[in-house]
Amino acid sequence: MRYLSDVLKEKYGEKVYRLTLSSGCTCPNRDGTLARGGCAFCSEGGSGEFAAALRSIDEQIDEAKALIAKKTGAKKFIAYFQAYSNTYGDVGRLEKLYLEATARREIVTLSLGTRPDCLSDDVIGMLERLSKIKPVWVEMGLQTANEATAQRMNRCFSNECYAEAVQKLHSIGCDVVSHLIFGFPDETREDMLRSVRYIAALRPEGVKLQMLNILTGTRLAEEYAAHPWRLLTREEYADIIAEALKLLPDETVIHRLTGDGRRDMIIAPEWVKDKKRTLNAIHRAISRDSSSPGRA
Ligand code: SF4
Repeated sequence: MRYLSDVLKEKYGEKVYRLTLSSGCTCPNRDGTLARGGCAFCSEGGSGEFAAALRSIDEQIDEAKALIAKKTGAKKFIAYFQAYSNTYGDVGRLEKLYLEATARREIVTLSLGTRPDCLSDDVIGMLERLSKIKPVWVEMGLQTANEATAQRMNRCFSNECYAEAVQKLHSIGCDVVSHLIFGFPDETREDMLRSVRYIAALRPEGVKLQMLNILTGTRLAEEYAAHPWRLLTREEYADIIAEALKLLPDETVIHRLTGDGRRDMIIAPEWVKDKKRTLNAIHRAISRDSSSPGRA
């Protein structure tokens, strides 16, 4: 099991920081192309609450860099386009933006969050060209491999579409970072681990795992207020994470084990707001697991 911070430090000889940037894209699951309102758990910010308002990429990089570099002295960065679907829109416009980011010497990687159904041939061509300049990571949320949950969450793409997208991206040399969410209503521990096995079989270069956050302004928040369901406890979540990590390929890099959502938007569970305690619980569960007799 390898963690992203270690892998980057090994590769670049120093800590690498993310700069959260905005491409100005929306999402077909929000603008009415597939649906309106988006995935049930997604807030208006498109799952990227910290993105800067749209200005030139150079300006955004300078501003985000100044904030981080002042505190840390950081010199190397990932251009991180997280919110909405960053391969959805005019490809010529997007390529110009991403070329601006990759042209900067201090940017070592381009990271684009998107949906698996936003990878047209033109987009794939753009990603292939960009990946010849700097490494390109494409982050896609499967969230769950349980199609019934996916439907209930209004995900609006199939598991098959996801698997094909991973293959396409691998064929042009892009890294894939898969996202999963644990704790959807009515999902059992076995459902969650089945999702991990599904992802593992696709051999993504990275994974992000997180607990379902019920955020203000989402459809999930309305459902939860009307009919609250039992949420995982911190310890249950930590145990599932420990089990999930055993199912992932050794070469898959762990990007995230718990979410980074905006605290003021989180309605439940309360415990996700304390990231440090959650990480401690996860590390305890991992070491308990590895020291149990007869367990791998
Ligand atoms: S695909 Fe992503 S941005 Fe679009 S609605 Fe779902 S979570 Fe939000």
